[in-house]
Amino acid sequence: MVCTWRRMAYYHPYPSVPSVTTVLLISAVTLSLLIWSFSIRPYYRKDATWGSTPLGLRTGMISNGTLPFLYALALKMNPISWLTGISHERLQIYHQWLARIALLFAWIHSIAFLIDDSRPGPPWEMLKKWWTYSPWCYDTGVAALIAMSWLLLSSTRVVRDAGYQFFYLNHIASNCLFLGFYFAHTDDMMHSWRWLWPVVGVWVGSTLGKWVRSGLFVGRGRVVGAQRGYLRIEVEVPRRFRAKAGQHVFLRFPTLRGWQSHPFTIASDRQEEQDSDITHRNLLFLIREAKGLTRTLANAVRSKPGGEQILDLPVILDGPYGSTWKLASYDAVLLIAGGAGISFVLPLLQDLARKRGRHDADFFCQRVQLVWAM
Ligand SMILES: Cc1cc2nc3c(=O)[nH]c(=O)nc-3n(C[C@H](O)[C@H](O)[C@H](O)COP(=O)(O)OP(=O)(O)OC[C@H]3O[C@@H](n4cnc5c(N)ncnc54)[C@H](O)[C@@H]3O)c2cc1C
Repeated sequence: MVCTWRRMAYYHPYPSVPSVTTVLLISAVTLSLLIWSFSIRPYYRKDATWGSTPLGLRTGMISNGTLPFLYALALKMNPISWLTGISHERLQIYHQWLARIALLFAWIHSIAFLIDDSRPGPPWEMLKKWWTYSPWCYDTGVAALIAMSWLLLSSTRVVRDAGYQFFYLNHIASNCLFLGFYFAHTDDMMHSWRWLWPVVGVWVGSTLGKWVRSGLFVGRGRVVGAQRGYLRIEVEVPRRFRAKAGQHVFLRFPTLRGWQSHPFTIASDRQEEQDSDITHRNLLFLIREAKGLTRTLANAVRSKPGGEQILDLPVILDGPYGSTWKLASYDAVLLIAGGAGISFVLPLLQDLARKRGRHDADFFCQRVQLVWAM
């Protein structure tokens, strides 16, 4: 059973295809919601004066009900991570698929109303009505649907890779627009706002939580060297900062592109080497130069006069985030890293060595193998 579970749940080498468990879970949710929507008859009242289309109302409310989960799954600090211990980056896949499900049901809702409000004529009768009277509910509904569809189109991998900052800022702005139109469209009909206020709550709560926590962890950063496309950043943080092996933080450099924050794995946390009088600890990050902030950092180091490859600057930390790994309970551990991926694997190796040295009761590891492709 353990082997079957691992085969189904673990990552596999096809990056664009989710794991089997994820596919099964998402398919089950989509299928049951579709069955719920279409198994109940009638889809439309005999006459529109008897009330709105039950199919349209049901699918609209289903889309509405997904929203608190959709937003919670998107946030770094979120209640689902607190409850399950699953970190935000592993929940992203569910956020992306739930967004598609929410949009699918929003479209079914809109088409059902388009057909219902056009009766007894053809579907474009409703468009004619909209053009003539421009009712508030149609205007705001169409605007919310456009914003929602745009959010999905502008969040594809291609867009994220082409310009992450555009994706990020556009995502926030489009979400604000979507929520504004959506609040106006639903107008608390069928108590729909009971699902919308939690959306606002988790978003505001997460943002405030991040700000407060970041305020606690302002450190001094030292960027060392910019050779062969790699940078090394040492960050001195208050001693109370705690992270586990394999976790990451979001780094913000207020003096260099201060509006951005980027995730980097803590390659080393020199906790054991400090004695109890020391008030700070040193975190090490190994960073591969890309084309944005990382290049700006590398250029700033290279431009230091006299060839001195050292740059001191303030850093704000948001984190730590990321799941923890209990590798010590396995007989054999194989660690595989490519390039800067060593920053994830190195702390796991150090953690194993530390546990072995301490003769921890939960240490069963007989063999550790590291493969590092440069
Ligand atoms: C959990 C996690 C841990 C990481 N740990 C490390 C590490 O230890 N060392 C390392 O070298 N890299 C690490 N990365 C990758 C690193 O975050 C990106 O390479 C870095 O943000 C690129 O910044 P840039 O502005 O120079 O990128 P760009 O040249 O603008 O983009 C390069 C790539 O990075 C992605 N990217 C850009 N900004 C972000 C962002 N804020 N969040 C997520 N992805 C982004 C883009 O989609 C693109 O694919 C990690 C990423 C994640 C998600």
